[in-house]
Amino acid sequence: MAPQENLNPHSEAHLNGPLFQNALMTIKDAAKIINCDPNILERLERPRRCLTVSVPVRMDDQSVKVFTGYRVQYNSTLGPYKGGIRYHQNVDLAEVVGLAALMTFKNSVLGLPLGGAKGGICVDPTKLSRAENQSLTRRYASEIAPFVGPTKDIPAPDVGTNPQTMAWFMDTYSQEQGGYAQPGVVTGKPVEIGGSLGRNHATGLGVIYICEKAMEIKGMKMAGSRIVVQGFGNVGSFAAKFAHERGARIIAVSDVSGGYFNGDGLNITDMMEYVKQNKSLKDYSKAQMISNEQLLELECDALLPCALEGQIDTHNAEKIKAKMIIEGANGPITNAATKILDQRGVFIAPDVIANGGGVIVSYFEWVQDIMSFFWEEQDVDTKLKGVLLRAFDTVCKFQAEKKVDMRSAAMAVSIQRLEKAMLLRGLYPR
Ligand code: GLU
Repeated sequence: MAPQENLNPHSEAHLNGPLFQNALMTIKDAAKIINCDPNILERLERPRRCLTVSVPVRMDDQSVKVFTGYRVQYNSTLGPYKGGIRYHQNVDLAEVVGLAALMTFKNSVLGLPLGGAKGGICVDPTKLSRAENQSLTRRYASEIAPFVGPTKDIPAPDVGTNPQTMAWFMDTYSQEQGGYAQPGVVTGKPVEIGGSLGRNHATGLGVIYICEKAMEIKGMKMAGSRIVVQGFGNVGSFAAKFAHERGARIIAVSDVSGGYFNGDGLNITDMMEYVKQNKSLKDYSKAQMISNEQLLELECDALLPCALEGQIDTHNAEKIKAKMIIEGANGPITNAATKILDQRGVFIAPDVIANGGGVIVSYFEWVQDIMSFFWEEQDVDTKLKGVLLRAFDTVCKFQAEKKVDMRSAAMAVSIQRLEKAMLLRGLYPR
């Protein structure tokens, strides 16, 4: 997803990644729409802090391998930094900067009292043993410990990490604080150690709340609709499950092993069970295999890209046949592709809203940890729906009033809130 022009007048490589460059284009588009104060815009286009750490790990064969980890704290105007930690072989500082920027604008548009951050380690976690993964997580947690904490920066899971990762992170941080349990340092923890009911499925459920609402707006119905899901991890699998439960036909899903198609609808419960046993969908035989490109270009009512960034760009935007796209992943459609799809009448629910369910319930988890008082799952799901649909409604109204694409609308609403807060706080020291 190559950007057309380099919008960064400085030359730092970590500010030149495609994900961040795309975010900058959206930020600039949105700032124009709301006539944003140029001094505020100048500050919003930069991460506040970028931390790079070496993470040495003793592997099972006794050799020592050094991995590189990151934590980028983008903006803390609205509250403590918040955002996930990604373990993936393609993680680098430039990607983490882009993801940290998206977290900032996501938390703002959702109305949460949180800033934006992101972390990651360049590692393929599928190649690590459980012991190696635990050592890696604990050393990374220890390296970034001075910069995180329940009132400073609160990590969470992302691609390649899960509740167990958060449990090891929380334990390491707590041990280093004299052994006192500090559940509020991370969210997405197992329920047994201060996690929230409903957090594990929250992102996927949020994607479906938004999909249902978007269909309602467009005069469509989820029951009987044909849905395509790219990615079958925490976001994609739960999104597919909730859509399936609501009567939709999931005609295709994919994961790292490829795409799986059945025009009559896949059996999602069976596929989730298969992944539990086999770790991925590899060799799943009750579907027709298709490529990732074919999957994205299938004719369907809704396409849910729930994998990685940069999946739909100017090369395939013209070929997309979905009526709407609900972005379960962060940054799956480039800025340029957004304009093409928008002109073609494809409705896009942008990432900062569509996948906001995860961080909304992370916020609830953090609040429950502070109160040491835990909510019923039904309560969490209902409150999630309220926060998410209110934000979506605000963005839809803004979009209708200004006649801009949905991504620009979401970013504009987000920047407006940040701008007001930044002007109130002022610039330190003067
Ligand atoms: N990694 C998720 C995201 O990209 C969740 C972040 C969080 O819960 O802090 O939104």
